[in-house]
Amino acid sequence: MYSPFRHIISVLWKHKPVHLTVFLTKRCNLRCSFCFYPVRKESSQVGRDKKHTEFSNGVNLSSDADNSKIPPYPPLAKGGRGDLVSVPTQEGELTLNEIEKLSSSMGRLLWLAFSGGEIFLRNDIVEITKIFYERNKPSIILLPTNGLLTDVITTKIEAILKHCSKSTIVVKLSIEGTEQMHDSMRGKGSFQKTMQTYHALAKLIENYPNFELGINTVFSSANQDNMDEVIEFVSKLDKIKTHTVSLIRGDVSDAKLKDVDVEKYRETIRKLESNLKNKKAPIYRFRGARLKAAQDIMQRRLIHETMIQKRQLIPCYAGRLNLVLTETGDVFPCESFIPEMRMGNVRDEGYNFKRVLMNERAKRVIHSIQNNGCFCTHECYFMTNILFNPRMYPALLKEYLQV
Ligand code: SF4
Repeated sequence: MYSPFRHIISVLWKHKPVHLTVFLTKRCNLRCSFCFYPVRKESSQVGRDKKHTEFSNGVNLSSDADNSKIPPYPPLAKGGRGDLVSVPTQEGELTLNEIEKLSSSMGRLLWLAFSGGEIFLRNDIVEITKIFYERNKPSIILLPTNGLLTDVITTKIEAILKHCSKSTIVVKLSIEGTEQMHDSMRGKGSFQKTMQTYHALAKLIENYPNFELGINTVFSSANQDNMDEVIEFVSKLDKIKTHTVSLIRGDVSDAKLKDVDVEKYRETIRKLESNLKNKKAPIYRFRGARLKAAQDIMQRRLIHETMIQKRQLIPCYAGRLNLVLTETGDVFPCESFIPEMRMGNVRDEGYNFKRVLMNERAKRVIHSIQNNGCFCTHECYFMTNILFNPRMYPALLKEYLQV
């Protein structure tokens, strides 16, 4: 297996990205009102209509609330749509050939995360994963999904598990609550479909030691009162190794969902922490999983504190250790998809990440993150900001010894 500890040098020398998030598509077979991605503007729209967001103060973050110009999404039903909506192929998505070229310009990765949209709507997801596996040897490959396409997901995941045997393959299924709550947020019938996928994937666990199955729940004002219930429910799914609770973020179509109660978030993270420490909740099987569990505990506490203090609490390595690639080739340091954070586009730079990072715009973005104290609550970036910051190690060790 590719050890996560190969990247230890990056603790001292943050010279190359170890964490790449690839948004494979904007297409989705659901329309969830807490999703931030469909409203992201294309690079052609970058630089227009600036309105400041509430979630950062240092970098000149801005967003655009006028989503009316963004085709092809139908109006959002309250709480999402469970029926499979027709999903046209999106023009302009990076092709396999382009992905092959751009992945060759990037070194070894600790963490490769796919995102979207529903990533399994890309018919070539197995080939895409193979390309990154061959060239970048990621220790961990994360595939999040709403879990609606049971047969497609199971077949494709098995193909990925077979081919990418030296990487840990993590599939995260989205569950927003028990059946009634989940369906009210994602659409009628979606809970049962996702559970069907869980049972189908669970059968693969014994045959593939590199396979990890997890659940992700988005914490929002809609389900914040039902968190105990969902944590309890997930704890009874015996093949689930981790349950992550991600705080709602970004420009979502129903802004009221962001009116979360900080105290309820704190209660939730305390429960997750105590379950880990009392061994009620399992951890991943891969080498370093205990460290990851300790980091999860610290990360949630820092997110809670960031919500209260509304400032950057620890340095952010986005742009240096993390990069985000969109389905049309835009490169960002993180998932703050605002014009000022765009570092460039791989199509303009010969599919070469190094060239993107060397341009003046990218340097300005990184300088701005380091010096202007921008902040957010996004879990993925806390992960690298904790694991690659030696100042966090005494606290990390303390948690490590308790999980
Ligand atoms: S990940 Fe870092 S750079 Fe991006 S918004 Fe959050 S604090 Fe700023």
